[in-house]
Amino acid sequence: MASAELIALIAACADTIAAHADELTALDQAIGDGDHGLNMKRGFEAVRADSAALSGKPLNEAVKAVGTKLVMTVGGASGPLFGTFFMTLGKELPAEPGRADLNAAFAKAVEAVAARGKSQAGQKTMLDVLFPVADALAAGKSPEDLADVADASAAATVPMKAIRGRASFLGDRSIGHMDPGARSSALLIRAIAQSFGTSA
Ligand code: ADP
Ligand code: MG
Repeated sequence: MASAELIALIAACADTIAAHADELTALDQAIGDGDHGLNMKRGFEAVRADSAALSGKPLNEAVKAVGTKLVMTVGGASGPLFGTFFMTLGKELPAEPGRADLNAAFAKAVEAVAARGKSQAGQKTMLDVLFPVADALAAGKSPEDLADVADASAAATVPMKAIRGRASFLGDRSIGHMDPGARSSALLIRAIAQSFGTSA
């Protein structure tokens, strides 16, 4: 990937998080502590501020460094989890990945999040977006289809009862709200898929 493409990819992620920070905050106010929008915005603005240095690295090294930066800056439960996702993705990718490499590395990264969070699909978390997207990648879906799968999967967390994370403290009262981390994951997947869609 050319460095200009990587800078554009980072900007697309940071832009969508910034544009939806209030929405993520509102979702987290409903079933958490209301910090998810600010957490994610702080993290992705820190990544954006680093984008010149990141773009000088091979793609796998840059993705790993994004993960490290997110661990340091996002905070909350989601910081270590998104950090683990990108650190594992970077570790598993070759320097010049093809689609099969991406599919395999993405699946490993989702497994690493599940291990780190001691969580699995169906518990109303970011994993309820990440696992279906991993499956859609493996099935060879187009970038636009991947983004649609991510949105539909985030929407599908609304009727779920939270079993992990702060929202689980609410028990049945977590039902009827979209999971904030599922929503932020879907936003990132759409931004990344669209960047690939336009550069492919
Ligand atoms: P906190 O819950 O510490 O305030 P955030 O608000 O930033 O952190 O992030 C909350 C999101 O993190 C949740 O919406 C959920 O998607 C995700 N999350 C929390 N705990 C877990 C876990 N154990 N496994 C997977 N995802 C989790
Ligand atoms: Mg929170």
